[in-house]
Amino acid sequence: MGDRGGAGGPRIGVFVCHCGSNIGGTVDCPAVAEYATTLENVVVARANIYTCSTVGQEEIKKQIREHGLDRIVVASCTPRLHEATFKRVGEEAGLNPYMVHMVNLREQCSWVHQGDKERATEKAKELVRMGVARARMLEPLTAQELGVERRVLVIGGGIAGIQASLDLAAQGLEVVLVERLPSIGGRMAQLDKTFPTGDCAICVLAPKMVEVLHTPGIRLMTYSEVREVAGHAGSFDVRIERKPRYVDESKCVGCGICAENCPGGAPSEFDMGIGRRKAIYVPFPQAAPLKYTIDPASCIHFKTGKCGLCRKNCPTGAIDFEMKPQEVRVRVGAIIVATGFDPYTPHVHGYWGYREFANVITALELERMINASGPTRGEVRRPSDGAAPKRVAFIQCVGSRNWKATSNKYCSRVCCMYTMKLAQLLKEHYQDISTSVYYIDIRAFGKGFEEFYHRVRSMAGVEYIRGRPARLTEDPRTKNITIRAEETLLNKITEREFDLVVLSIGMVPSEGTEALGRMLGIPRSPDGFFQEVHPKLRPVDTSRDGVFICGCAQGPKDIPDTVAQAKAAASSAAAMLARGKVILEPTTAEVDEALCEGCGLCASLCPYGAPSLVETGSGKKARIQKALCHGCGTCAAACPRLAITVRGFSDEQLESEMAAALPGEGEKVENGRGVGG
Ligand SMILES: Cc1cc2nc3c(=O)[nH]c(=O)nc-3n(C[C@H](O)[C@H](O)[C@H](O)COP(=O)(O)OP(=O)(O)OC[C@H]3O[C@@H](n4cnc5c(N)ncnc54)[C@H](O)[C@@H]3O)c2cc1C
Ligand code: SF4
Ligand code: SF4
Repeated sequence: MGDRGGAGGPRIGVFVCHCGSNIGGTVDCPAVAEYATTLENVVVARANIYTCSTVGQEEIKKQIREHGLDRIVVASCTPRLHEATFKRVGEEAGLNPYMVHMVNLREQCSWVHQGDKERATEKAKELVRMGVARARMLEPLTAQELGVERRVLVIGGGIAGIQASLDLAAQGLEVVLVERLPSIGGRMAQLDKTFPTGDCAICVLAPKMVEVLHTPGIRLMTYSEVREVAGHAGSFDVRIERKPRYVDESKCVGCGICAENCPGGAPSEFDMGIGRRKAIYVPFPQAAPLKYTIDPASCIHFKTGKCGLCRKNCPTGAIDFEMKPQEVRVRVGAIIVATGFDPYTPHVHGYWGYREFANVITALELERMINASGPTRGEVRRPSDGAAPKRVAFIQCVGSRNWKATSNKYCSRVCCMYTMKLAQLLKEHYQDISTSVYYIDIRAFGKGFEEFYHRVRSMAGVEYIRGRPARLTEDPRTKNITIRAEETLLNKITEREFDLVVLSIGMVPSEGTEALGRMLGIPRSPDGFFQEVHPKLRPVDTSRDGVFICGCAQGPKDIPDTVAQAKAAASSAAAMLARGKVILEPTTAEVDEALCEGCGLCASLCPYGAPSLVETGSGKKARIQKALCHGCGTCAAACPRLAITVRGFSDEQLESEMAAALPGEGEKVENGRGVGG
């Protein structure tokens, strides 16, 4: 191979990766490397088994130094996985990191053309040719550094948000923990025991809730919601609304005299509507903070202007019917989203007779009933007549693993396990009870889970029936429920009668997830939960720098996995802030003010609010706030005056890449943006 760099021209190195057999099994990598050497300006090309390995990285550095390369093309996997790796490698060998270009031979070639090596190899050559053409037009760019606020906003006060807040505070960071309900605790506070160890949920949780209250670095804002987020990693400006409790938190001592005297009331949300609460209430006895809240929808004073018994009886004068929403602004360096899940509501799609037959309940309702501090003081009762059930059926996968458009395709990951726990608890409470579990298959993948499954399954009076029920009917006299199902292990259709049917409901994204995602500029995956950047390597990062996710906000999971993720999110946020600075990517939009006519289209379209119009000596012009710009290119594509360029993605670079895709490399293409050949 000769030196094709040419005097003064770009000097390009091409590195083709086998990625083990991921690419090498389908693409003839040595042939692609050989082909690359024939391209203009390519000085050297190599094929490596694993380019990302130490050996592969050292090889790149060696070639850069030996051949005086001023840019490289790495033809391997997706840039999402290794762009940062190869930029660093280039930088360590003296290149500007933005002179590194990646070509995706794995997702965009070998994985989609398995079984056709010849044509896959031809396509790989074309992709490399395009990459080299793009690399010729690369320009060095410089990243900017910005300072950071050493304060973190945590949204959601379930076990995930609580754990993340405590971990951050332990590292000396300030935390603002925002919970939309009157108390922190989340769903875990509603549970009785927890699988597989049988720990009492609130006994484990309550000390952490109290610790939040007593940790000086944590500013807890309950009954509050985040309304606006502006700024960028290292410095987000957040507007929070404190909803009026109508009870002055600084005066309320949690004595409960107000509630004792309150004639108003409503079904208790915390008890899943089984019990009732007063109009002035704390959601549960261990609430943190233990401060009362008035629900105007059920308060007689708010409905009629009369009553006021709470105000008359409150010994500290804490009741304030005139209280208004308050706005609080905070500046934080990072944000952790821990907004959890909502239980799937089966009546939405009319499944399984829920809300149609009295004796069909959900597992969360059973959790509240079987809980000693729940609405029935730990007694399980049939809603129809208050009798203790003798024959209980569980139906698994309600709202999960169903490919009908009206349901969720994913597995909710906890229902198999909590059903075992509830079956065991029922047996502990009532010796003579029998439990039948209708299941598709059992997923018991965690530490100690399989052992727990076998223990419960072998208990007398517990049976597992493989088969999804086809129909539930109610006896109009007894209110018993008959389940008709195909029992696939017996290969027959059966009809069995039960006193109580429990639906093992799955998890759905918590209410407001979509709006919060829009506000924060973070995407959701097809299941509706927040999307991590990479499921294995960056499971708590989002595509927006400085915003992290954890717990069930990211997807269904149990408490141990939630806590592990919360700790990961806290340490990722802390690590970012510990560096004391954030790097601002230079691949942002740039306005040519001479061309800009100030139409404002860019400002109206940008999903991140980066452009704004400013008055200049020559009229209104768009300006891009670089710290907010994600380089998505929306504005550049929309600008009718072609006044916007995204650095690193200029028209010239993209045209050059496209031209190389066509026969006769080097030809310019007409692309509607007015640049011809
Ligand atoms: C019936 C049932 C039984 C279960 N049993 C077990 C068990 O035995 N063992 C086990 O390990 N796991 C169990 N789980 C799973 C367990 O409940 C979850 O793993 C855990 O609750 C997840 O915690 P989280 O903090 O991520 O979410 P959540 O508990 O949902 O907490 C999220 C918090 O964020 C708040 N929030 C939501 N949106 C906002 C917003 N926009 N602004 C401010 N705050 C917001 C919510 O009010 C809530 O307080 C069970 C689940 C169910 C449904
Ligand atoms: S005004 Fe009356 S109804 Fe309203 S919270 Fe006070 S006591 Fe209850
Ligand atoms: S490139 Fe995208 S993020 Fe940047 S200003 Fe334009 S539209 Fe906004």
